Amino acid sequence: ARKYVVKKKFEGVPKRDDYEIVEYELGPIQNGDILVKAEWISVDPYQRAYHDRYPIPYDQFGFQVGIVEDSKNPKFPVGTRIVTHKGWCDYSIINLNDGMKTSMDIAYKLPDLKGLSISHAIGAVGMPGATAYFGFLEICKPKAGETVVVTGAAGAVGSLVGQIAKIKGCRVIGFAGTDEKVQWLEQELGFDKAFNYKTVDARKALKEAAPNGIDCYFDNVGGELSSIIMNQMNNFGRVSVCGSISAYNEDFSQLPKAPIVQVDIVMKQLKVEGFLVPRWLNRFPEAFSEIVNWIQSGQLKVKEHVLEGFENIFDTFVAMLSGENTGKAVVKV
Ligand code: NDP
Repeated sequence: ARKYVVKKKFEGVPKRDDYEIVEYELGPIQNGDILVKAEWISVDPYQRAYHDRYPIPYDQFGFQVGIVEDSKNPKFPVGTRIVTHKGWCDYSIINLNDGMKTSMDIAYKLPDLKGLSISHAIGAVGMPGATAYFGFLEICKPKAGETVVVTGAAGAVGSLVGQIAKIKGCRVIGFAGTDEKVQWLEQELGFDKAFNYKTVDARKALKEAAPNGIDCYFDNVGGELSSIIMNQMNNFGRVSVCGSISAYNEDFSQLPKAPIVQVDIVMKQLKVEGFLVPRWLNRFPEAFSEIVNWIQSGQLKVKEHVLEGFENIFDTFVAMLSGENTGKAVVKV
């Protein structure tokens, strides 16, 4: 089997030689075990953001969709498709006797995708989909007619948040990093307005696009752009803090300064709440079935940025961090 091991501390953008692809022998499977062959492997921003939490060396964790090739567990016979958190490896042995003790042990049967590509089980019908669904609906509690802003809008999570907001009858404004993404959001996904945050004056653009202020903000990026958005929120607005990718390649102890947001939080009595999506792990099936239904009815569009080949996982990861993806970045093994 092969796996990616992180063997050096990342400095700034991860580098190829921070990783080593290690070949190793998998032992025989024991009672309760399954042998899984990876078919689709996910690259996600938290693989960068969580880096400092793990002592080096560590195996690169992450989501994958695989197929059971050998089984000593009657609940998961050979041929079963499964979603696991085994990360960037082509084969893995999983013991399902102990259940899921932490989010790192996540392993569950593929949800009913009603004919969609199985790759969506690590995208819209996987962790990123649950993030958009619960992170937006549970924390922002949007009402029809409200104005919603989403950053990282053309990515896996953001593109779903904006469309869910439209389904709920909101007016939606997105920020993304290229003109092509802006066009996709407005013309394909039905965003009311989208902007390229790299070229636009965000303060001015928002004044024009949301003259009555912002009610909900789904924050994927943090930093100055988020401060500008929060400055234009309405009383009792809700901010769902999902991520801060603008800082993931920075040294967290020496972060760049963004304008202060506390004045707006107090004066406008905003609710600002961060979350980690495993909070709703038990409820993932609820999100998945609703998302699949929305895709089937044409209310929700999903896009993937697909690369092929186990040896290309690292490149796909770095491409995603730098914004080359539109929609969910995945690797077909
Ligand atoms: P995306 O598919 O959105 O890919 C990352 C995107 O981030 C890139 O495409 C790029 O798009 C954008 N980006 C990169 N650098 C910057 C920057 N400096 N400023 C602004 N945007 C930047 O990834 P996901 O949808 O998987 O994740 C989106 C966010 O959600 C991340 O912050 C992630 O950590 C968070 N997340 C949080 C979870 C939770 O439980 N809280 C769970 C899952 C995700 P562009 O071209 O627009 O710059």
